Amino acid sequence: MERPKSLVAGNWKMNGLEASLAELDATIAGAGGASCEVAVCPPATLLTRAVARAAGSDVAIGGQDCHAATNGAHTGDLAAEMITDTGASVVIVGHSERRTDHGETDAEVRAKAEAGWRAGLTVILCIGETEAERRAGATEDVLDRQLAGSVPDGATAANLVIAYEPVWAIGTGLTPSEDDIVAAHAHIKRRLRERFADGAEGVRVLYGGSVKPGNAETILALDGVNGALVGGASLKASDFLAIVAAAP
Ligand code: PEP
Repeated sequence: MERPKSLVAGNWKMNGLEASLAELDATIAGAGGASCEVAVCPPATLLTRAVARAAGSDVAIGGQDCHAATNGAHTGDLAAEMITDTGASVVIVGHSERRTDHGETDAEVRAKAEAGWRAGLTVILCIGETEAERRAGATEDVLDRQLAGSVPDGATAANLVIAYEPVWAIGTGLTPSEDDIVAAHAHIKRRLRERFADGAEGVRVLYGGSVKPGNAETILALDGVNGALVGGASLKASDFLAIVAAAP
């Protein structure tokens, strides 16, 4: 199968005030004509302003999480429809920081992914093992459990992107070996093919965890890697654009 167009997505996490939009402006200016797709997921407070800045550009804007319900008594949460309402087109669900900080289960992540689809968003669904799980040789079991429990029926190349993010590689400067990244991506793609047959052919699998300008070209060229989910290095346009430029 032809390699799908790569996606490089930035996750700003709980970083960014009005002044940070200058970095978004620079990202938008520099991403024009990029060979890959580009998305930036700022904090919810900046979504509307980010969408306005990105209008007509090659940069998609996304949320970092959504609630499973359309509305209701859920103080502090955002419905997927609210994210769509800002003009954003993407949502991240199941990030390990949500799974850890908020105790999100696979079933909850699945419901959030369904909510994202209901609202017309492309869902970037994160999975990945902890350091202890990798040391115990349980990486594939963890990925299997998360894929089976978090990914709803009806996944297609158009509505789903998987981000393989080893928890121990996020924000640590550590990355798996090239062979380990290739093996994890091949495993994820195999499981998607088994479950969704042709429908999931072309679902992109991003790598996430300490992607930087210095390692992006190597990681993004690996077999089965269809882009990157980038945390820290997405906050500075020059770093993020160097990663975008490294995408095949
Ligand atoms: C992330 O949080 O999704 C991530 C990959 O972070 P970092 O790039 O900072 O490791």
